[in-house]
This record gives sequence, C-alpha cells and structure tokens, in this order.
Amino acid sequence: MLLRVEAVTKSFGGFVAVRDVNLSVERGRMACVIGPNGAGKSTLFNLITGHLQPTRGRVFFGDRDITGRPPHAICQMGIGRSFQRTNIFPRLTVFDNVQIAVLSHHRRTLNMLTPARALVRDETMALLDAVGLAGEERSTSGTLSYGLQKQLELGIALASEPQVLLLDEPTAGMSPQETADTIALIGRIVRDRGLTLLFTEHDMDVVFSIAERITVLHQGAVLAEGTPEEVQRNEDVQRIYLGEAE
Ligand code: ADP
Ligand code: MG
Repeated sequence: MLLRVEAVTKSFGGFVAVRDVNLSVERGRMACVIGPNGAGKSTLFNLITGHLQPTRGRVFFGDRDITGRPPHAICQMGIGRSFQRTNIFPRLTVFDNVQIAVLSHHRRTLNMLTPARALVRDETMALLDAVGLAGEERSTSGTLSYGLQKQLELGIALASEPQVLLLDEPTAGMSPQETADTIALIGRIVRDRGLTLLFTEHDMDVVFSIAERITVLHQGAVLAEGTPEEVQRNEDVQRIYLGEAE
C-alpha cells in the first residue's frame, strides 16, 4: 500500500470529527472518500497532509511513518493536494501561478547552477499543457472560468511532482459539463503520470465513473469500504444516501 491511514482519530475539543478510521490506497489506484457534508472528509485529508495532527493513530506513506510531519515535508515527500477552497493568486497570470509552484518545489531540490530558468519555463509549460491550459498562459488567473481555475489548481498541485494526489471535491460548484471534463482530465493525468489518486466527492455519479475503491464516511467513521459495486449494494450506504436530497 502506498498510503495507509491506521486507526486515526481527530477530536476538536469534545467533538470527534474522525473516528478510528482505517484506509489504504494501493499504488496506481484511484480511490474516493464519500460521505455527507460534515462526515469528516476534509478533516481526514488534512490529517494525511499534515495540516492537522491526529489525536490518535498513524499515517504511513510507503513504509514511512509520516504522522506529525509538517505539510511542506509531506508535500516534498510526494503527497500533493488541492484545497476545497482555491489557492491561486487571482491577479497573476496562469503561467506565473504555475511557475511559482514549480519554483517553490525546485528551490529545495534543484542545484541552482543548472540552467534553472529554461527548465522551470519548460516544466511550467508542460504542466499547463497537461491540465489543458496551453494557450491560456497569459490570462489573468482570476478572469478564468471556474472550471479553468480548477484546472489551474490541478497544475499547481502537480508542480510538486507528487506520487499521490489528494483532491478535495475537485468538481465542487461545477456545471455537469465542467464536471465531466474535469473528471476525464483527472483520470487521464493520473494514468499518464502513473499517479495514485485519493479524492472526495459528493456526486455519486462522478464517483462511480472513476473510482476503483470507495470508502464511505459517516459521522467521522468508516461505514463501508469496497469496490463501487460493493458500496452501491451496501444497505447502510443506501439508507444514508436515500435520506439525502442529492
Ligand atoms: P466534510 O469535509 O466531510 O464535509 P469536515 O471534515 O469538513 O467534513 O468536517 C467534519 C466535522 O468536523 C464537521 O462537523 C465540522 O464542523 C467539524 N470540524 C472541522 N474542522 C473543525 C475545527 N477546526 N474545529 C472544530 N470542528 C471542526
Ligand atoms: Mg469537505
């Protein structure tokens, strides 16, 4: 398993947001965490990326215990993420947004004697191309459509050359067409680059179109885990989702 969450619990004061969660993702797989609003999905992601510390439990990346490591160290090791809320600089160009991310990644790993400028430019352009933004590099990021801004965020996340990509509701707020395009794009990038994907989503159709494994969270705990077919058949899952107006 490339990513392993072992018996992780997160309490905020007396409130338990994530309760004794186990979750593993095999290298090269596309896995999804689903669950109603407030189920603990974003909290779980923050526990994996080091933005929050678990109250109990451990997180492993390969055979390394990364529990308690700071976010930049975890990102540098190879776990990239996007946020549910956008983290682009709206007044900068598309190119500059990705270039900043490329630079901040290489500052730690690139020997500054190399012809860094050209490398960084080429890498930035390659990333823009991969996320479907070639031709938009001079646009002001804040003027892009919502869907294109999300593609830009994906480019920023890829700049850290992750092995595992964590995407928190990558299609939130998108039209059905933007959603379909984005999911196709994510699937293509993950396959082309041999990445491992863990994402959260609350549109079930989106999940079933791409995820190979699904973990269902409910009130912070794992309610079900399995293939899309197994999860779809699960009666506890049906009860929760039938009760929702989605
Ligand atoms: P989801 O992403 O599945 O919608 P979250 O992980 O954002 O759910 O939140 C899970 C629960 O934890 C919610 O009830 C939320 O209000 C609570 N929560 C999240 N972050 C904090 C925090 N920093 N302090 C207190 N409660 C929090
Ligand atoms: Mg969330």
